[in-house]
Amino acid sequence: MKKHIFFTGFMASGKSRTGRAMADRLQRPFIDTDSVIVERAGKSISEIFEQDGEAKFREMEREVIAEIARNESPQVVSLGGGALNQPENIKAIRSSGVLVRLWAKPEILSERIGRKNTRPLLANLNDEERLAKIKVMLKEREKNYAQADFSVESTNEANEAHVIERILHMLKFWESHALDVCPSSGGRYPIFIGKNITPTAACLLEGLRLTPNYEFLVCTDTTIAKAQNEMLQELRGQAGRCPVFKFQAGERNKTLHNLNQLYSFMLHRNYTRKSCLLQFSGGVVGDMAGFGAATYQRGIPFIQFPTTLLSMVDSSVGGKVAVNHPEGKNMIGAFYQPSAVVCDISVLSTLPENEYLAGLAEIVKYGVIYDEEFFKYMEQNVEAIKRHDYDTLRHLIFRSCQIKAEVVGIDEKEAGLRAILNYGHTFGHAIEKITNYEKFSHGIAVSLGMRVAARTAVLLGKIDEVTEKRQNALLDALGFPKSFGVNAEAAWNAMAVDKKAEKGTRVYILPTKIGEVEKVTNIDKELINKSWLAIQAKEA
Ligand code: NAD
Ligand code: MG
Repeated sequence: MKKHIFFTGFMASGKSRTGRAMADRLQRPFIDTDSVIVERAGKSISEIFEQDGEAKFREMEREVIAEIARNESPQVVSLGGGALNQPENIKAIRSSGVLVRLWAKPEILSERIGRKNTRPLLANLNDEERLAKIKVMLKEREKNYAQADFSVESTNEANEAHVIERILHMLKFWESHALDVCPSSGGRYPIFIGKNITPTAACLLEGLRLTPNYEFLVCTDTTIAKAQNEMLQELRGQAGRCPVFKFQAGERNKTLHNLNQLYSFMLHRNYTRKSCLLQFSGGVVGDMAGFGAATYQRGIPFIQFPTTLLSMVDSSVGGKVAVNHPEGKNMIGAFYQPSAVVCDISVLSTLPENEYLAGLAEIVKYGVIYDEEFFKYMEQNVEAIKRHDYDTLRHLIFRSCQIKAEVVGIDEKEAGLRAILNYGHTFGHAIEKITNYEKFSHGIAVSLGMRVAARTAVLLGKIDEVTEKRQNALLDALGFPKSFGVNAEAAWNAMAVDKKAEKGTRVYILPTKIGEVEKVTNIDKELINKSWLAIQAKEA
């Protein structure tokens, strides 16, 4: 569990009361940052504001929060109203704990505040004026509160024990928080990785439920709906037994036509913008329903619950959503980020072995393009990987997401760096294309593509054969196919029509060592033809 628990929320939302009760329950110290400042300054907050100015107060507040963040022993902290206005504070809070927002309906806040009439900002107003002012202030501060990791309602004053239980329940789920993705265009979303965490993921929905009449929809495919029916029902149950929309499983169904059925489904059921898609699926439905979320009424939130290894380490992270067009894969799409990604390793128990292998291909790719240590980890844990060992899988998923998040954080829209994620893909796509997307799954085609790319790098003198062999030995050990009788000419033509390639140039991502790649353009056709021999049967 992350060290500290920080509470934020509007005045009278119960930060101090709940904070104290939580501290008692966990037998931790309770700190109210405002009280610490008052004690240190030897005067009240209004006196500090009057005599020393707000800047001085904010400086003291920063110091207090930084001290708490550095403190190794876990505390429960109630934050002052303006604390989240300062980015340094948010950084310190995030790095050292969980930020919980307490909320209550404006009517209830107004009633609580009116009862005491001690809050200077809201003193001496009649009921109507006070409620109106609270509504305005809540709106102004929403962007601060929205920084919270999760929200808990403190409406029912009589039942504090219940609020504490809910928070503890959420903190339990929060233990699976693995990392945050921060796309270069702004925003931030968490990735959770754990075992059997789908049934407790409801705390992610609590924040959304702050909006009255919020509605949910689960999207999945026909195969997953059968294989993971129990988990699907759990998820659905958490979202108020919301409807489930099932796409037909399979890449060939990733079409605008099928997506249109989702739009119709939602429109017939009067889904408004106040709705959220929960995608319980692999990459096909994840991409398709993600594009649905990006475009339904100009965009609604969505949460990814990836059910394949590939979607956990690749398609759920990075914000690319799309459907296929007869002219090419993923040609119609958008960049649109999810609100969260929940990787529940338990759901992989029913995933067919070849789909597991497909995910592993992308994981090996991360090692080759970015991180030799990670590559080495895989070399040393082949057996554990093959028997789906939980801790090993968790590390593979975690590090893969971290690498993808880092790359996407620098280059969300593929202006440069993100292209390195296409390692093995230029060749892999050609293989998929000339085999009509039937012979190999995407991941397997990519694994073959990585072999061809490594050979290209050898022929260009960028790596030596030892490095090529090292990559291929790991692929062999994990059980990837070694060869495929490809026709170099057909493959060359298949590569030429990659619509996302830079105009007029052919782009290749090639290794310069394990853990590093570079972009190379316009390689001689003869050399590329020769590279395909890397995967011709019996060339050794
Ligand atoms: P998929 O979604 O088709 O799932 C593979 C198969 O496994 C399907 O038949 C599915 O029904 C079944 N399945 C899924 N989870 C299961 C489970 N837990 N138990 C039993 N069966 C299960 O394929 P995928 O490999 O997850 O995704 C491939 C798609 O991802 C492609 O369309 C590709 O374009 C896309 N993709 C997107 C990105 C991106 O950045 N958006 C990145 C990589 C791949
Ligand atoms: Mg891929």
